[in-house]
Amino acid sequence: MNIDSNSAVICTYGNPILRKQAQKVTQFNSSLANKAKEMLRKMYIANGIGLAAPQAGELIQLIVIDLQQKDNNDPVTLDDRTVPLTLIQPLVLVNPSYTPLSDIQDAKEEGCLSLPNARGTVKRFFEISLDYQDLEEQLHTLRCNDLLARCIQHECDHLNGVLFIDHLSKAERREQQACLNDIKALGGQVDYRDNLMAPEA
Ligand SMILES: [Zn+2]
Repeated sequence: MNIDSNSAVICTYGNPILRKQAQKVTQFNSSLANKAKEMLRKMYIANGIGLAAPQAGELIQLIVIDLQQKDNNDPVTLDDRTVPLTLIQPLVLVNPSYTPLSDIQDAKEEGCLSLPNARGTVKRFFEISLDYQDLEEQLHTLRCNDLLARCIQHECDHLNGVLFIDHLSKAERREQQACLNDIKALGGQVDYRDNLMAPEA
């Protein structure tokens, strides 16, 4: 799919890979590290803040995140140590699994690199605890809230074949229908190198 190494091809709505369940990563090797590096490269070119492997054409449980300037830089808790978010970005999350830390949810607008120009309000848990492995197979627990927690939930959805539009109210989903038809007309992928529109996540 990605012949030109400078391209930033991302799968778009209508591509069946986005609806499939991603497989657990079992091989922690240089190929996995290269996949993460390639995903970060695409995410930065596309001006996104998160990317899940299925969006890059890989059905594995791998996510990259970098909120860059968009976060308020609240501290997060990594393995029981409080650290500034900037120190742990970019985040590479292998086999991630989260649980909410409270019932509190908030509703905010989201976009998605696989759904260029679509927007919609999604309710997410405000505060979560995330278990994941790094590229060296080490287990970590990250506790975070707000935008980072939202982004993680959005990306974990991708690993289960779920898109943010699945969470919209019927009315909002209807409002997005023309946009979704346009995205489907892209034929299942877009190269962000050629395309400077800038949705998120
Ligand atoms: Zn997305």
